[in-house]
Amino acid sequence: MLNGGESAPRLRRQHGFQLPLHPLQVSGWLALAVLSVGAFLVLVPALPAHAQPACLAALSALLLLHLAAHLAAALLDPAEPALRARRPEPVPQLDRAKHAHVIEEGRCHLCGIRTTGARTKHCSACNKCVESFDHHCKWLNHCVGGRNYAPFLMCVSTAVAAAALVAILAIAELALHHSHWLDTEKLQVVAGGRRTNTSLVTEIDCGCMRCCSSDYLLETL
Ligand SMILES: [Zn+2]
Ligand SMILES: [Zn+2]
Repeated sequence: MLNGGESAPRLRRQHGFQLPLHPLQVSGWLALAVLSVGAFLVLVPALPAHAQPACLAALSALLLLHLAAHLAAALLDPAEPALRARRPEPVPQLDRAKHAHVIEEGRCHLCGIRTTGARTKHCSACNKCVESFDHHCKWLNHCVGGRNYAPFLMCVSTAVAAAALVAILAIAELALHHSHWLDTEKLQVVAGGRRTNTSLVTEIDCGCMRCCSSDYLLETL
């Protein structure tokens, strides 16, 4: 069940995988799956053989770190300690006739607790008070606070690093195949006898064992 947060049930969210899921959260998982499968099944195998182990190790390490940080950030509950000690109960709506703010003088009128500090905020999406509140993350479908801030930072930094590595690999392979295509055209020109400039042949260095060996070039010519 998906929900954009407009009509979320008035129960306290304890972790990011609790229903209803958020559309951005599901989009993020799908993007991660597609990028991972594409990188491991297409980009890495298309690399020259000598570059594959290092890229495979770097991508695997980043993906594992990201998954661990993502799970930790989504599963660690940043709620106030007094709330974490309680079972979730339906959270009432704020009575604006009685209270101007949800938290007044260190007391949350919805959670019914005294907060531990001035940085505590009541999140209306999670229906709970969050200690050292940073923001409500729609990608995690959970709040980020003092308790899960470090794994959240790790989650973001590994996602950025993995996306950058995948982009670099894709651009490098496009350039590699483009230059390979150009060089193949040059070889065909030389082999057809219309040009005899042998310096064209020495420019070829795509890194693969099939066409970079001198035997292959001689056979082709
Ligand atoms: Zn509260
Ligand atoms: Zn929240």
